[in-house]
Amino acid sequence: MKSDPVVISGGGPVGLVAALALARSGIEVVVLEAADSIPRDLRAGTFHPPTVEMLANLGVGDKLLASGIQVPEWQIRDRRAGVIASFDLGLIADETPYPYRLHCEQHKLSHLLHEALQQSSHATIRLGERCTGFSQDKDGVSVNIERTDGSVDVLRGSYLIGADGARSTVRKSLGVEFEGFTWPERFLVFATRHDLREDGFSGNAYIADPDEWCAIFVQPHDGPPGIWRIAFPVPGDMAESDVLSDSFVQSRIQGFLSPDREYDIPYRSIYRVHQRVASTFRVGRIVLAGDAAHVNNPLGGMGLNSGIHDAVNLAEKLGAVIDGAAPDLLDRYVRQRRQTNIEYVQAITIRNKRLLEERDPKVRANRFDELRQIAADPSMAREHLLSSSMINSVRRAAHIV
Ligand SMILES: Cc1cc2nc3c(=O)[nH]c(=O)nc-3n(C[C@H](O)[C@H](O)[C@H](O)COP(=O)(O)OP(=O)(O)OC[C@H]3O[C@@H](n4cnc5c(N)ncnc54)[C@H](O)[C@@H]3O)c2cc1C
Repeated sequence: MKSDPVVISGGGPVGLVAALALARSGIEVVVLEAADSIPRDLRAGTFHPPTVEMLANLGVGDKLLASGIQVPEWQIRDRRAGVIASFDLGLIADETPYPYRLHCEQHKLSHLLHEALQQSSHATIRLGERCTGFSQDKDGVSVNIERTDGSVDVLRGSYLIGADGARSTVRKSLGVEFEGFTWPERFLVFATRHDLREDGFSGNAYIADPDEWCAIFVQPHDGPPGIWRIAFPVPGDMAESDVLSDSFVQSRIQGFLSPDREYDIPYRSIYRVHQRVASTFRVGRIVLAGDAAHVNNPLGGMGLNSGIHDAVNLAEKLGAVIDGAAPDLLDRYVRQRRQTNIEYVQAITIRNKRLLEERDPKVRANRFDELRQIAADPSMAREHLLSSSMINSVRRAAHIV
């Protein structure tokens, strides 16, 4: 007998990766996306080597590589002292076929995934359909849907994946706690067409400073030389109109480039940043993945990557369960992905932020010395690169039983 489809709430990159991985194994899948089109907003833009490997295995690697910029080297800088340490992923070229950070806007990946799913006879994407709730019983799930036009529907599925982002309806309906904290400051993100390579920056750089630390990364945008996205902290109580004003944005970029120049700023936005992990990723036939399960600050580019790692891991196990394996295999997904999110993604991104914003000059000097030593010692630099490229977290997850 044909089983009911796996229903996925959320057509963001994580939901679409899960859908493609399941569909490629011959499993029927329905994606519900609340928006009327695949979202195009500017968010994550860094793909680490294991993620590129996973996407290549799903058949979208070549197109993603053709759309992105390969950034093998990234820098840690001090606002005044300049480059403190540089790390070159070429040092771990024996560990991965993709020894670089691939920079590409996440909505471009979403469109590639959407295209691939449209060609699959096992996948259906229903745009403009929001999951509003669900019930589950021993044979499956019943998912409540509300369409953009106000009409409602109920869809029967075998399992429900909640990949509906940080404010996940699925997680909230389950009553699962989103444990962790929210940073008091918000992040201002803007983009400039000024090519920072002219100023000695590698395609990805982090500048330490107690007040005006920042993260910089080049994005392909609409073609070479690309566009540079820059993220700064801003006080939690500063009015949004002041944060987004020309004078404030110019003051941030002029602060570390030239104070005498007006920079072209085609894009700016502000957002709040959290470090949170759901208390569990599974309740019966309902499983969480991506931002619905965990969120973190963007320093190190790990949020979307870890969500894609969830999606691939979950699709493999859910596929096996639908083919007859015991359902508690899904608890192994939870152990592997929840544990490594806490041990690696939360720990590394919090540490990255603390490093950049350190106020105590002695502590800052010690951390910089440590980084210089790591960068100068090939075996220490290798270990640093294996962690920051997320290779270690994926290997660690595979060993959790
Ligand atoms: C403003 C902003 C900037 C960011 N910048 C960075 C960055 O620089 N670096 C980085 O690593 N990460 C960044 N992130 C985080 C990164 O974008 C996320 O980790 C990533 O989008 C997670 O993918 P996802 O598919 O889990 O969730 P999302 O991309 O949020 O996708 C969830 C999808 O579910 C849909 N949806 C929501 N509710 C429902 C529902 N009830 N029913 C059906 N569909 C629903 C939404 O419309 C959306 O399409 C940023 C996030 C934000 C908000």
